[in-house]
Amino acid sequence: MEDYLANLNRERTVVVFGGTFDPPHFGHLIVADDVYYRLEPSAIMFVVAATPPHKQGERHTPADTRLHMVRLAVAGDRRFVASPLEVARGGVSYTVDTVAALSAAGFSKIAVAVGADNLVEVPTWKDWRRLLREVRLLALTRPGYDLAAAPRDLEGLFEPLEVTPVPISSTLVRARVREGKPFRYLVPPAVYDFILSSQLYR
Ligand code: ATP
Repeated sequence: MEDYLANLNRERTVVVFGGTFDPPHFGHLIVADDVYYRLEPSAIMFVVAATPPHKQGERHTPADTRLHMVRLAVAGDRRFVASPLEVARGGVSYTVDTVAALSAAGFSKIAVAVGADNLVEVPTWKDWRRLLREVRLLALTRPGYDLAAAPRDLEGLFEPLEVTPVPISSTLVRARVREGKPFRYLVPPAVYDFILSSQLYR
């Protein structure tokens, strides 16, 4: 059994919160906090995508660096777990495979949380109909995106979850770093220090 799963209560729901996390920012943490409050799961699992299927070809930070930053971001909060599952598996990451791995590890109640921007992508995911029979899909509100604009195919298949509006994105953080603009309070302190010391996004 993988270490990071060892202390998690299998009786309770585990929330898969997948992403590129390039870099992780306070938006991720604030909405995860809200999801935790609403569901009281065993943990929110920040699953770092290896090669995100929808971002293939785009330049992005190596997976192990993104995983490291997520570890820094969640350190000290036992409710949040950085999952190396997809990074360790390598290749293109599919949520359905991640969920299968968690089931095999003894979790029977699994929820997948996506931001409103990602909800429209769900019907393009591998085996998404089967996936949605196996998990609860939580759609998190996000400034600039409308949950009501969800594809027809998804009607009745997701649970809208209103979370604190945080107009921060990784894209914004990367742009700010590149342009030499302030970004210190958009990301956790340890992530800020890491971005500076490793000269990411310049
Ligand atoms: P990018 O700007 O590079 O696309 P991002 O900020 O959307 O990145 P991801 O790592 O792609 O970050 O996000 C992981 C998950 O968190 C996605 O489901 C995304 O929708 C959600 N998310 C990210 N930021 C927010 C936010 N501010 N509010 C709500 N959900 C968010």
